[in-house]
Amino acid sequence: MAEKIKFKIDGKECSGEAGQFIIDAAAECGVFIPFLCHMKGIVPAGSCRVCTVKVNGRPMAACTTPVGNDIQNASIENATPQLEEMRKTIIELLFVEGNHFCPTCEKSGNCELQALAYRYKMMVPQFSYNFPLKKLDALTPKLFIDRNRCILCKKCIRSIKDKDNKSYFAFNKRGAKLEIHVDHEMAPSMNDELAQKAMDNCPVGAILKKEKGFEIPIGKRKFDKKPIGSDIEK
Ligand code: SF4
Repeated sequence: MAEKIKFKIDGKECSGEAGQFIIDAAAECGVFIPFLCHMKGIVPAGSCRVCTVKVNGRPMAACTTPVGNDIQNASIENATPQLEEMRKTIIELLFVEGNHFCPTCEKSGNCELQALAYRYKMMVPQFSYNFPLKKLDALTPKLFIDRNRCILCKKCIRSIKDKDNKSYFAFNKRGAKLEIHVDHEMAPSMNDELAQKAMDNCPVGAILKKEKGFEIPIGKRKFDKKPIGSDIEK
């Protein structure tokens, strides 16, 4: 068996296998590195940058940086005031860029963006709201897409695929106009299970499954019971 590569996160001794991403190796060591776009086992996107850590003083995304010989005995900073402040700022920016009206959103309590806002005790964001007016999409038989809530994490693109490994989702347009789209030719082949997975994988309320709502009452949902990251052993 290959020898594990040792490193320290905020002074805690950890180790990981070569090629394993820092975020996963840290989780196995009981260290929670906050994230939005990461999905264990799925090709990383490194798009949200919430998981930025400092490796030997250099900022790196923990979801795209693999454990390798250059990490051997490295000192990784994670929960420092500077990095936590940066994460809070990213969360605030994502909130003001979209229309995240938690009290009326079906994902409230199951939303990772909302859970991180609670984690960082976000109150009134320091930035002004954009209030985007992107088109909603209710044409997909099993899904309702609210692009005004999409944080462009690519989780749906990377994880919701048909049997030929073709994604149901893709980005359209460019730059500030970048938008999530669902392939309307493929969409009728999506079954209930995959539609539910799309909704569950989306870290916000941009993808909602039709015909079912508020099945679990607010107050009894995932992050209503336990704060995000609390499932990691300390
Ligand atoms: S729809 Fe959801 S999962 Fe897809 S890119 Fe937007 S936020 Fe991410």
